[in-house]
Amino acid sequence: MAFIRKGQIEKIDKKVFLATATMHGEEMKYIQEAYDTNWMTTVGKNIDESEAMICSKVGCDYAVGLASGTSALHMAVKLAGIDLYGQPSVGHGAIEGKRVFCTDMTFDATVNPIVYEGGIPVFIDTEYDTWNMDPVALEKAFEIYPEVKLVMLANLYGTPAKLSEIKRICDDHGAILIEDAAESLGASYKGKQTGTFGKYNCISFNGNKIITGSSGGMLLTGSKAAAEKVRKWSTQAREAAPWYQHEELGYNYRMSNVIAGVIRGQIPYLEEHIALKKAIYERYKEGLKGLPVSMNPFDEANSEPNFWLSCLIVDKDAMCRQVRNDREAIYIPETGKSCPTEILEAIVSVNAEGRPIWKPMHMQPIYRMNAFVTKNGNGRAMTNAYIAGEATDVGADIFDRGLCLPSDNKMTIKQQEVVIETIRACFE
Ligand SMILES: *Cc1c(COP(=O)(O)O)cnc(C)c1O
Repeated sequence: MAFIRKGQIEKIDKKVFLATATMHGEEMKYIQEAYDTNWMTTVGKNIDESEAMICSKVGCDYAVGLASGTSALHMAVKLAGIDLYGQPSVGHGAIEGKRVFCTDMTFDATVNPIVYEGGIPVFIDTEYDTWNMDPVALEKAFEIYPEVKLVMLANLYGTPAKLSEIKRICDDHGAILIEDAAESLGASYKGKQTGTFGKYNCISFNGNKIITGSSGGMLLTGSKAAAEKVRKWSTQAREAAPWYQHEELGYNYRMSNVIAGVIRGQIPYLEEHIALKKAIYERYKEGLKGLPVSMNPFDEANSEPNFWLSCLIVDKDAMCRQVRNDREAIYIPETGKSCPTEILEAIVSVNAEGRPIWKPMHMQPIYRMNAFVTKNGNGRAMTNAYIAGEATDVGADIFDRGLCLPSDNKMTIKQQEVVIETIRACFE
């Protein structure tokens, strides 16, 4: 029980965050270049260069710099909708009223763009192997909803999903795959980088991602026509005419050349950041040995994560009682046992920051009415059991027992040792 030793473990001097930007200096050079050349707009060399650098690093044909990962996902959904159902009338999404299969345990930015376009997300349960979309549940979903033609998949915490299996299932059902690689830039599956498995893919340069622009994102694709479409849509959909001529709905989604300067300076450090994150993950793995917990898993034979966030999951029989409602959590401390709520509190008490696992979308009030499919079929049929306090699906179970650990690149070994010691104390 943590409270026994609370106050006995030495606090970390300078707060360790979950994940923050790690700057190198070159970013300033490119920001300055944008300033000096007066390309203080959504056009410029920094944008062109970062797009080209991402293409060669990730191994994709086209990258389009956008304001955020979310806007990249929105554009991806819009492209896929038009491919599948044709151009809609202005103000309507091509996928309006259509079901779209979507990763359940993820950040809501994965899902919301489906809704921006009028689609209806159907959430697919998670697998224990990678904490990503369960291919078995995806197959099940196609049995229940054979008409579905679009799948949105996220690679959680930098760990690739079972991408070839997912891709094969999509192909078998004639469905388009969109890959949300916002958290997994630089991770690879069977030697191929994430962000290249979907027809349209997204990456993010948000402030806490593996590399950052402070904000920003890119749409990645192998289609020249799609890349050109997104360049046009994201700059207000202006037609080639002497005046502002509009035939399509436009967006103000293009990346700023100043932001692109930061990204341009960061890209060369992607591998270095991954190495730092991997070392953090391995130190946790080693340091937590012997405790009834395990680290967030990955397919060791086929994938190389970017280790963006280190997470742990408490063994079922080592969980003390913990109850969460929509806003709060309580737990009952118990000798030899712990739970994410207690561990997160303990981490805060030594001046570090952890975070609960992404609360699954099927449990979110906004999406509570949407369909949810587990490997056993209709996950909603089991909702009553969940209300009784039992996790009946994999996502709810990982949310219950898991948490994200402080994973900042700049955390020192000593600081990480304090975090590890703090977690150990929770199980005393
Ligand atoms: C960060 C993130 C996004 C969105 O990226 P932004 O650049 O913040 O808009 C999308 N999906 C996932 C899984 C993310 O973690």
